[in-house]
Amino acid sequence: MNRLRIAIQKSGRLTEASKALLEECGITLPTAKRKLMTPASNFPLEVYYLRDDDIPAYVADGIADLGILGENVFRESQQKISKIEDLRFAKCRLSIAIPKNIEDADLQWLNGKRVATTYPNVLQDYFDENQINAEIHKISGSVEIAPNIGLADAICDIVSSGGTLLSNGLKELCTVFKSQAILVGRSDIAPEKKALLNQLLFRIRSVQKAQDNQYILLNAPNTAIDQICTLIPGMKSPTIVPLVQEGWSSLQSVIDKEQFWEVIDQLKQCGAQGILTMPIGKMIL
Ligand code: ATP
Ligand code: ZN
Repeated sequence: MNRLRIAIQKSGRLTEASKALLEECGITLPTAKRKLMTPASNFPLEVYYLRDDDIPAYVADGIADLGILGENVFRESQQKISKIEDLRFAKCRLSIAIPKNIEDADLQWLNGKRVATTYPNVLQDYFDENQINAEIHKISGSVEIAPNIGLADAICDIVSSGGTLLSNGLKELCTVFKSQAILVGRSDIAPEKKALLNQLLFRIRSVQKAQDNQYILLNAPNTAIDQICTLIPGMKSPTIVPLVQEGWSSLQSVIDKEQFWEVIDQLKQCGAQGILTMPIGKMIL
């Protein structure tokens, strides 16, 4: 039987969110501990639990069809696999940091310097793009202590809050790129697996759309309906139901979370009252 094989991180920052995404897509995984692979019970899919750094090679070699990993690891791997979808979690940035006592430094300061990183390929590309001539020192961990022990003049590493940098006497100089979790796969996936992938992608996008929107219910004077319909057009158009009170209607629609408060203010100005909003489970256009 045809099954999609998807590799996710075994234990780390991506694990819970990767499993939660599959669950949100209606894919039930047995709670198997210390297993390398578990089949889903209600979708033709097997999950492989791996170290995140191993995922690109497993996908490139065809042992897994798909993988969920940080874009930072994907870019560094330089394997022949492609990004299929942004997954929006594990957001962080790959940054260059320098000792905090260095004032007025810009990118050019890096010329002739040694930079320690676990991302030599991504960093070299960045230096090439920006015509910086610096020496890249590849190390496998504890990058942030490299300047203190005299191993390097600067570092390039994952930053989220900047707290680790600060406690090591460093400050951010520039962002190399912004990363998040992504879905990857080979471009030559077999046609019968492609159909399953499309099914999975359809579910992922429905989950994401639901996260972007809220359900909205409100009362409005009939004279304001046209204006309100342009503010919250919904998926096709809003539903309008007359209220018992003459001259008033109830409207149902969806509202984009990005513009939520802006649109709410405008709805109130139009005379909308009794506004209720609710989270949406899945959103299918
Ligand atoms: P493994 O044992 O699988 O090799 P790891 O130690 O290399 O794990 P984690 O620390 O679990 O990796 O991080 C996994 C991914 O999570 C990183 O590659 C990155 O994409 C993302 N990530 C790392 N640090 C942060 C952070 N501070 N905030 C958000 N996401 C992060
Ligand atoms: Zn790793």
